[in-house]
Amino acid sequence: MAYNVTLIPGDGTGPEIVETARAVVDATGVKINWEIAEAGSDVMEKYGTPLPESTLNSIRKNKVALKGPITTPIGTGFRSVNVAIRKELDLYACLRPCKSYPGVKSRYEDINLVVVRENTEDLYAGVEYPAGSPEAAQIIALSQKKIRPDSAISIKPISKFGSERLVRFAFEYAVKHNRKKVTAVTKANIMKFTDGLFFESAREVASQYAGKIEYEERLIDNMCMQLVQKPELYDVIALPNLYGDILSDLCAGLVGGLGVAPGANFGGDIAVFEAVHGSAPKYKGMNKVNPTAVILSAKLMLDHLGEQKAADKLEKAVTEVIREKKNVTYDLGGAAGTREMGNAIIERMKQL
Ligand code: NAD
Repeated sequence: MAYNVTLIPGDGTGPEIVETARAVVDATGVKINWEIAEAGSDVMEKYGTPLPESTLNSIRKNKVALKGPITTPIGTGFRSVNVAIRKELDLYACLRPCKSYPGVKSRYEDINLVVVRENTEDLYAGVEYPAGSPEAAQIIALSQKKIRPDSAISIKPISKFGSERLVRFAFEYAVKHNRKKVTAVTKANIMKFTDGLFFESAREVASQYAGKIEYEERLIDNMCMQLVQKPELYDVIALPNLYGDILSDLCAGLVGGLGVAPGANFGGDIAVFEAVHGSAPKYKGMNKVNPTAVILSAKLMLDHLGEQKAADKLEKAVTEVIREKKNVTYDLGGAAGTREMGNAIIERMKQL
């Protein structure tokens, strides 16, 4: 059977790394009909928008997409295409596994953490008012002198629905992937209502997994220190949007950085797989950047499609190529180009 998958090359270095990742996935033997869909600053002129409706429709139809990074130009007015895709398709859970690969320079070994970040609520909901606006003035009046009159205001919505579905996703992931524990993280000692509701909702969901998956809670400041000092104590970590964004980068740092950090966004029956890193535009067209993060995102996609054998083979080949350090890109201490590293992974898969 062949799978229909939307392929979004993105912009900047996106097209070259996505092309490499596609070749690697094809070499696993899993049959995929790739449907190319455009998005990003390069298509702005052609469609009048960086995110054509046809691209969203392709993802809606195929339910699975592999996506390259997309630039968010500063100061041009259009919002992040990446955020727009997540919002339009209600991709509420952002999954970021952080795993050590021998050969990747890092201060730590044997890290194997999974960050599950809420993607739609919190201070990222986009409910924000500039200082001096009538909306800000209304909220300032409501606050009974707790807010200075010259303040800009961001609203932090956290719902029971949004928190429960995110934490349930984390527990279901833990069950499916033989994980032992979910740690929920907030700052509920200070934000008693919003973060408090996240913990309350998490406890309710956790009670349904009692005896199967352990549950614990941490405060975000303490969690940052614990992860730096004792990352081996943690397994799956579930967080609201802002803390999740920051902690994802901390965890990517634990395993050696952006070049090897894959990700995925899930919502209902749709999943979009993409690297954590951005479009690295200064290297555009130079066949220089590391394709590993997108290739490992494609590995997550194969997992999601139920192609476990192909996913394992792909990851094993990536692991071996990185460990040998002969055909790796500059950021891993080598001199290979994007395509050459991809080809080395393909050659290695043939031997497995
Ligand atoms: P970036 O991740 O693109 O690059 C930062 C630096 O990290 C690069 O200059 C490079 O040195 C290194 N790097 C990144 N990816 C690499 C790779 N695959 N191999 C080797 N080195 C790599 O971050 P940025 O410069 O802050 O963002 C550039 C653009 O990408 C911005 O417009 C930003 O909004 C966008 N962005 C998009 C996504 C996405 O598509 N999901 C995510 C983050 C940033």
